[in-house]
Amino acid sequence: MTQSILDVLANIRTVDEMVAAFRDERRCRRLLESMVWPDGRICPSCGYRHSIAIAGRSTNKRRARPGLYQCSSGECRFQFTVTTHTPLHSTKLPLRVWLRAMWLLLQSDKGMSSVRLAETLGVSQPTAWRMGHALRLMVAREHMLDGTVEIDHFYLGGRARKEKDAPPPGRGRKGQVKTEKMPVLAMVQRPAGRSPGTAAGDARATIVTGLSLRAAERVIETQVGSDTHLMSDEAKAFIAIGESFAGHETVKHASGEYARGSVHVNSTEGFNSRVRRTIAGVFHHISPQHADLYFHEIGFRWAQRVVTGSVVRKTRHGREMVRTLWSRVPPALQLPNVFRAATGRQMRRSPDGGIILKSTVAVFG
Ligand SMILES: [Zn+2]
Repeated sequence: MTQSILDVLANIRTVDEMVAAFRDERRCRRLLESMVWPDGRICPSCGYRHSIAIAGRSTNKRRARPGLYQCSSGECRFQFTVTTHTPLHSTKLPLRVWLRAMWLLLQSDKGMSSVRLAETLGVSQPTAWRMGHALRLMVAREHMLDGTVEIDHFYLGGRARKEKDAPPPGRGRKGQVKTEKMPVLAMVQRPAGRSPGTAAGDARATIVTGLSLRAAERVIETQVGSDTHLMSDEAKAFIAIGESFAGHETVKHASGEYARGSVHVNSTEGFNSRVRRTIAGVFHHISPQHADLYFHEIGFRWAQRVVTGSVVRKTRHGREMVRTLWSRVPPALQLPNVFRAATGRQMRRSPDGGIILKSTVAVFG
């Protein structure tokens, strides 16, 4: 990525500065191109690294639209723009609205509901909803976690759903109301160190139906490298899974133990509570079908932080504890991390105004 792009982004701190930076459509296109293609243009169809600009030229008596390129590979000749085969594919919105939306979403602490984003940008709520999902799709990460990884499980939701014929709360068959609790498996890679500037590790969460051993195994196998040092509580499923990793240590929550030196799952517990607070506070209700998308966003926000230092705090019992202090990467500087994994991830509008995920895998980046 060229230094000038990072300079532009580094100077965006306030809403005024953001609006000024994302004002001109041509400039926004250039900015987006350098974020999607940090190492030069790549044909989204075949991956060829040479292409020619045909924007402005006349093809079939029509002027080619801005930012249009053609792949130079003889077999391909694919015509594309910076949004082709990304979640922004064939968007009718100006790119400046997209960049503003992404900045606003990243600027907010835990995310924004589509209702708020729609109000702020002056777009329709379904449009804002799809923009939020575009962000969530782009920030999904596929590489394996490694180093030291904490795993944990918890239930999300859990407010009792009111059944039509159920007795009023507090009377009758207590404990028999249906709940919509979703069993979630969380995986958090610890940061490589505690020195200032160190990035937080990646964090992932996914719904694991019934929290069965096999389902949990499948998830962990595809997301955590086998040379990893695993940390968990002593749940039976985790004990079995831990055997196929380089190391596995457990904290004995049952006997009141929460940390034994470096053996703890404090990071996942922090992440779990962030997931809970975000879903309860911002998104209120998420369907299990789209839950992973929301987890991608929460995991990305978690990872976009760096260590700034540490302080020693005394616990209630008088023990001294070292607490790491964090600050988040400025929202504008998170944008290149969002867009570099855009190509290949595709969603389309469904006839009923929802979205259809066509591909959730990035092809470059
Ligand atoms: Zn091509």
